[in-house]
Amino acid sequence: MNWITNYVRPRINSIFSRRETPENLWSKCSECGTMLFHRELSENLNVCTNCGHHMALRPRERFEALFDNGIFTEIDVPEPLADPLKFRDQKRYPDRMKAARTQTAESEAMLVAQGEIGRTPIVAAAQDFSFMGGSMGMYVGNAIIAAAERAVQLKRPLILFSAAGGARMQEGILSLMQMPRTTVAVQMLKEANLPYIVVLTHPTTGGVTASYAMLGDVQIAEPNALICFAGPRVIEQTIRETLPEGFQRSEYLLDHGMLDRVTPRGEMRDELISIVRMLMGETPPVKGDLPAPQAEDETTEAATPQAEEIAPDTQGDETSAEGDRA
Ligand SMILES: [Zn+2]
Repeated sequence: MNWITNYVRPRINSIFSRRETPENLWSKCSECGTMLFHRELSENLNVCTNCGHHMALRPRERFEALFDNGIFTEIDVPEPLADPLKFRDQKRYPDRMKAARTQTAESEAMLVAQGEIGRTPIVAAAQDFSFMGGSMGMYVGNAIIAAAERAVQLKRPLILFSAAGGARMQEGILSLMQMPRTTVAVQMLKEANLPYIVVLTHPTTGGVTASYAMLGDVQIAEPNALICFAGPRVIEQTIRETLPEGFQRSEYLLDHGMLDRVTPRGEMRDELISIVRMLMGETPPVKGDLPAPQAEDETTEAATPQAEEIAPDTQGDETSAEGDRA
């Protein structure tokens, strides 16, 4: 017995603990099972380098890859009343919130920011699925209103990245109220004649698809994202029929006229730049003439002044390009 507890068990533990170390450096693709090197994966925006599967991308990482040189300013969102219903399931709602905040290092399920993409100023909002399933509560409602108000104030387009399991049940009817509230916010943009572009990411479901996520002037989705109101399992159980393959996935919705585009994450920034410039009546982007997306780690600080130095020249180029076409 002593031999087992004193020799065998520590040996086994040491073998397994040694195996745990690489787990911090590698992650496994949930689709094809390939082991991917962390750094390589994050440089590829969390898209599997083997099969192209799009894994979740947190709002902060997304914004770093979206805005010119990865520079953006966060927009403050008014803090709503915490736990208005004193809700409790297995856990108290404030305890769930505390756990989500510790786990994600974010204060809530949506991040709002302003900055430039391809030198066009925009406002962007992104939902965080890792924060309580990206659920739409009063905070998310406030965030979308803050984003729309800022866009109207600065006359900028709004780009929204959705990812949600639906409404936040811990806020009951108050979470459902965010559907009309956010719809009014979108309407504010339409009345101000400003573009509202939605990028649907995996998964966008429930009350979110019944409001702001489906009201874009342009509806883009990432490949193979689940986009639905009620999920496929619920529908199959209700109608007792097998659903077609790829049902409620991006490509299927594109084929059936629910979306305008399905765009891989690696091409998303360029595509958004083109669309935003087109809708804002600016000249199309000139290839090789735009600021880099995410600045390299080592050059982040150096990149900013460079971009500013380049800016006046490039504007000159754009004007001449416009002249050529005219
Ligand atoms: Zn894969």
